Amino acid sequence: MILNKIKVVVAGFRGKMGSTAVQMILNAPNFELVALLGRKEEVSEAFDVPVFNRKEELENIEADVWLDLTAPEVAYENTYFALEHGLRPVVGTTGFTEDEVARLIKFSREKELGGLIAPNFALGAVLLMQFSKQAVKYFPDVEIIELHHDGKKDAPSGTAVKTAELMAEERLAHHQGAVDEKESLVGARGSVLEGMRIHSVRLPGLVAHQEVIFGSKGEGLTLRHDSYDRSSFMTGIALGIRKVMTVSELKYGLEHFFDL
Ligand code: NAP
Repeated sequence: MILNKIKVVVAGFRGKMGSTAVQMILNAPNFELVALLGRKEEVSEAFDVPVFNRKEELENIEADVWLDLTAPEVAYENTYFALEHGLRPVVGTTGFTEDEVARLIKFSREKELGGLIAPNFALGAVLLMQFSKQAVKYFPDVEIIELHHDGKKDAPSGTAVKTAELMAEERLAHHQGAVDEKESLVGARGSVLEGMRIHSVRLPGLVAHQEVIFGSKGEGLTLRHDSYDRSSFMTGIALGIRKVMTVSELKYGLEHFFDL
């Protein structure tokens, strides 16, 4: 049986994630790279496929999947554009608001198109989120520390927000720490999502790391995941590209495609 290859467009192909994903697609027997979208008006002769610097130029490209690894300021409009033109978005770009995700899910249902927005494509990070959701039932006092390279533009990370949102489904919102605590330096206690504190560290040398620290009477539990390089995201991206072809709405989180 000859299976059709899944035709993929990569937006943000010159970036750290985008360039790694392009190599993964070129090496995958079931995927076909059909076009690239960057921001710069630079000629790219390294590829046999058309290279564009305006998304509107992709309107007539025959493709199945729009892989987006760009920047928070364009990710929403790119994802909307992909759905509008019949492409299934697989989005790794972070920084979406809850409202934007909800609007894109609604639009994907209207278009009956599959899609995925995944704050983290690393399989271990998805498991960390699921384990955190389980642990918070027994350890409702929890703080998150996310650590990333210093080029990251959004904070807190999409993964930290998603982890907190998942834990919030199982945990009664409550204040943590002393009721009368005071910050002598603004931000010392981090940001807050439903009473859970999130701390963001940005340093050169890091890639993407997260600790979820639970505390209870006389005991503690720490869950940690590390992405040491960008190859850690490629298995999840490949899974996402395959799976969006089998569903007819956009999903938020790679765990929707896990057999958990
Ligand atoms: P990066 O190296 O800065 O690359 C971003 C690319 O997006 C650049 O190549 C740039 O194109 C393009 N771009 C930036 N701003 C743009 C704009 N305003 N309009 C159009 N294109 C624009 O970043 P990265 O480390 O690859 O990360 C890309 C995104 O993926 C970020 O949002 C990051 O947080 C996210 N990320 C997600 C995961 C995950 O697992 N979901 C993992 C790591 C990173 P030009 O080079 O042509 O200017």
